[in-house]
Amino acid sequence: MDIFKVFTLEAAHRLPNVPPGHKCARLHGHSFRVEIHVRGEPGADSGWVMDFAELKAAFKPLYEQLDHHYLNEVPGLENPTSERLAAWIWEHLAPSLPLLAEVVVHETCTSGCRYRGPGAV
Ligand SMILES: [Zn+2]
Repeated sequence: MDIFKVFTLEAAHRLPNVPPGHKCARLHGHSFRVEIHVRGEPGADSGWVMDFAELKAAFKPLYEQLDHHYLNEVPGLENPTSERLAAWIWEHLAPSLPLLAEVVVHETCTSGCRYRGPGAV
């Protein structure tokens, strides 16, 4: 069973490796929506996969590094595409969230990236 929590964060970025004249080379911001999914069997007594409060607590240090920051200045996010951001979140979250199953980054209402970890398709 999958459970998830959605976080919204405001951040600025620019993409340094796009072709000349591409609009994403210019500094701009997004209201990113990040979904963190965890997967497991609900406990027989608890009835839940995990406490949503624990999930929120695990994401908090990352949220603080990203929200209202210029993503290009965050180590590892020098080219902060949605894909790189999803992988960055995975790498930093997996050690404290063993049930992590999926990270979804919505860059806009219509564009985003779904990442299920290294080696997954
Ligand atoms: Zn952008």
